[in-house]
Amino acid sequence: MGDELLCAVAKRLEGVIRETDALGRLGGDEFVVVADGLSLAAGPELIAERLLEAFSAPFALGEDGETRVHAKASIGIATGIRPTAEELLRDADIAMYRAKWGGKSRYLVFESGMEDEVQSRLELEMDLQGALDDDQFFLVYQPTFDLQTMTPTGVEALIRWRRPGRGVVQPEEFIPLLEETKMIVEVGAWVLKEACREAAGWQRDERPLSLSVNVSALQLDTDELIDHVTEALGESGLAPETLTIEITETTLMSNAEETARRLEELKALGIRIAVDDFGTGYSSLGHLRQFPVDVLKIDRSFVSQLADGGEGEILLHTLVQLGKALEIETTAEGIERPQDLSLIRDKECDNGQGFLFARPLSAQDAGSFFSQWSSKRRFEIRNDLPGAGRVPFDGSLGPDAAAAGADAR
Ligand code: C2E
Ligand code: MG
Ligand code: MG
Repeated sequence: MGDELLCAVAKRLEGVIRETDALGRLGGDEFVVVADGLSLAAGPELIAERLLEAFSAPFALGEDGETRVHAKASIGIATGIRPTAEELLRDADIAMYRAKWGGKSRYLVFESGMEDEVQSRLELEMDLQGALDDDQFFLVYQPTFDLQTMTPTGVEALIRWRRPGRGVVQPEEFIPLLEETKMIVEVGAWVLKEACREAAGWQRDERPLSLSVNVSALQLDTDELIDHVTEALGESGLAPETLTIEITETTLMSNAEETARRLEELKALGIRIAVDDFGTGYSSLGHLRQFPVDVLKIDRSFVSQLADGGEGEILLHTLVQLGKALEIETTAEGIERPQDLSLIRDKECDNGQGFLFARPLSAQDAGSFFSQWSSKRRFEIRNDLPGAGRVPFDGSLGPDAAAAGADAR
């Protein structure tokens, strides 16, 4: 059927271009159109748009044409004069790769500099392939706080990558690629196991610590997630009710029905569900109710807006009230300034997380953070230190812990 699809695609493409243009298949699923003269009068973009349009309807395959397949294309355009035809094709190829990253069904015109971008991206992908087997990933843990008692409630596990020769790489730089290559499923399983294993060591008797783990859309798409969570809990001995899975609001809302079913399965294991980056994904109230959600993590952008005076405060107030109305806990993310913390506490938001409390800590530092935090100690905002609010620990841990946290980041 793959061959059939390629033929059907070729037919449609042929129907779109002029007779004087050349159409060819370079190999695999790559086609090339060579156009000149009149065809280009309105610009190559117009041709690209027509080519993309050719993919809007599904392809009917199979003997009776009853199998419907949707296919998408990415287009790279190179124009002008090159010393050789190969170079023109190479540049179009580079632009095509670049176009792909922004999502399918796009075209992009080649510009100089793109080859470096594509090259470094290919290297990134190659390096990522071996990262899991070579133990190059590690986790850091950012403490979260109960805003009423001002004591720590647990941690969020955040992934880092020690890339050979490049130092520590932040998740924003490699998670998207892990998702695109579907490697995130395997890496995500590792994160779950590792986080549960490490956090199990810090559990205290008086009040168990919670552990939050980020899970991406692709992980939620597979049945394996349930196994991965079950295994992580089983091997570590961590109590299910102390584990929270964080899913971004955007993930929650795309494919809502399927997601709701999977979340119910996860809930049945006894774990908790948090909606990450809440407030940015346009979920409707009605929608939210259909998911078994325990925590709303109010996106950092709402907290950072508090400083401007404008609408920030009312938005934060509304989100916290929404949580109260639905009986869902709220956590404010990214608290950096003491005055914001006061305001957030006034709004009766349940939990807080941010550099003001603590930066993400290495596993070892997180361990000592919790073992040294006495049950009577309350977090205190101190404005009198250098870099006020950035060094939230008094006495026992001192600025070193904050510095260690900064290193881990
Ligand atoms: P997130 O889940 O919303 O995590 C919170 C991010 O905010 C973390 O960035 C954290 O370091 C940062 N942060 C915390 N407090 C503050 C603050 O006061 N100010 C500022 N400016 N930032 C603060 P990080 O570690 O770079 O992670 C970024 C994102 O990458 C995460 O956002 C999450 O979406 C994703 N991520 C991290 N680890 C994993 C993972 O293991 N799996 C998956 N699927 N995604 C992950
Ligand atoms: Mg998160
Ligand atoms: Mg977040």
